[in-house]
Amino acid sequence: MEKVFGNIINGKEETDGEKIPVKSPVDGHLIGYIVDSGMDEVNRAVDSSMETFNGQWKHTEIADRQKMIGKLADIIQEKAEEYANLESINTGKTIRQSTFMDIPLAISHIRYFAETDEFKYERKIEHPEYPGTYGIIQNAPMGVVASIAPWNVPFLMAVWKTIPPLLAGNTVVLKPSHYTPLTAIELVKDMKKAGFPDGAANLINGTGRKAGNYLIENKKIGMISFTGSTNTGIKIMEQGAKGLKKVTLELGGKSPNIVFSDADMEHAAKGVIFGIFLNAGQLCESASRLIIEESALDSFMEKMKKYLQNMKAGNPMDYETDISAITTMEQKEKIEKLVSETINAGGNVLYSRDLAGSVPESGTYFPPTMLSGLKAGSGISDEEIFGPVLTVYTFKTEKEAIEIANSTKYGLAAGVWTSDMAKATRVAGNIEAGTVWINEYHLLSAAAPRGGFKMSGIGRELGLEGILEYTQTRHIFMGNNESGMSDVAYGILLK
Ligand code: NAD
Repeated sequence: MEKVFGNIINGKEETDGEKIPVKSPVDGHLIGYIVDSGMDEVNRAVDSSMETFNGQWKHTEIADRQKMIGKLADIIQEKAEEYANLESINTGKTIRQSTFMDIPLAISHIRYFAETDEFKYERKIEHPEYPGTYGIIQNAPMGVVASIAPWNVPFLMAVWKTIPPLLAGNTVVLKPSHYTPLTAIELVKDMKKAGFPDGAANLINGTGRKAGNYLIENKKIGMISFTGSTNTGIKIMEQGAKGLKKVTLELGGKSPNIVFSDADMEHAAKGVIFGIFLNAGQLCESASRLIIEESALDSFMEKMKKYLQNMKAGNPMDYETDISAITTMEQKEKIEKLVSETINAGGNVLYSRDLAGSVPESGTYFPPTMLSGLKAGSGISDEEIFGPVLTVYTFKTEKEAIEIANSTKYGLAAGVWTSDMAKATRVAGNIEAGTVWINEYHLLSAAAPRGGFKMSGIGRELGLEGILEYTQTRHIFMGNNESGMSDVAYGILLK
């Protein structure tokens, strides 16, 4: 019998009930099963989180919670190799990426939350209208947070969706994607070892339509923190509005990389490739549009092709392999459909490769691809492909570059490549996106808030702003009639 990866409810792993198979995109083999949770599992998880919230969790201080978060980082550090293997087998991302990026980055983010002193529970204010009185402003938790995560960077997302809300004093019910739940399950198990009380974080497995929907419908949920596609985000917001729930949404993108001819072209070529082909383009902020100064196009393409040709295809579990798998068959079919539609609509293929024979049979792969000849602002130029596909546009003026960059409904991230820092900051300040990198891409810092403009989302994750999303403000007015101000106020009604 294959392994069953259970739900974690009130500190116990539960494996009973209907099952969903979990397959590896590396070579299609069956890894095991997860529980196809329904209303009963979801409601018990929410009840457990509510009980913990109203019980001992309420009496913890930020410093107590940070101690547990720090201990968790130590535990994961010890098992980093195990986490990296699990992440790569489940997602098909290269083992090099899991080992040197996804897992250590997530650990460093956990440590940031364990150590930051920026977040304070309360602060004192003066009331200029009422001398002698003062106010206490508290960042009160929301209660039980429903955290819903996507399949593409499962461990980092599970960390972002549990640690900041816990730090802010909430409890959490986490629902990872049913395609890639394995490292999230391990994370919640390790929380118990780090000293978090049972129910501080519960985890339910299952599909969005069933488990996810029951979770957001549950009346005891105080907030929904969602990361996923824009279409699902819209549905979640509609559903959340019925219960007037606070909703934060981290959604899709169609991010641009703008390359000026005065950039360090070697560095820019590597950065543009890293921007789109890392994780086979399956990152929300993947820079799927290259907007390049016309005079630099030909030489830049030559440089990019040279690097692309050197990227090794193979088994992603092999340390030499550079090209990640496509995590789900549905996603691969979507990429194929969008690319063939583009070609039928007159798009040119600037670069593609045949991966057959070099990648494991029965795995799910799509080659790095570059397309040109597309009109900016519509069709595939405005649709998230979520795969290793770069569309290329040219510009003659700075104004035109900014217009093309802003021509999509999304606004998650962007890159600007130039040696002129005045131009870089001017362009960055005109781009409609939550993150703009200058001469870099994908470098994430836990101290920096990130999120979307336009259809890329509402709210921020990481940094102080990201922690404050999981709070609601309480003002406590400390009255004092020393100055006689309240007699004046009450005198309006009572002579
Ligand atoms: P998705 O929207 O299909 O699913 C995301 C999560 O929502 C999954 O756990 C899914 O089970 C759940 N879900 C689906 N329907 C639901 C419903 N009706 N009610 C409740 N839950 C439901 O997204 P995906 O395909 O898993 O992930 C890829 C998308 O995520 C891409 O669009 C990508 O850009 C986006 N993403 C955004 C960020 C960010 O920070 N902005 C980060 C990673 C991924």
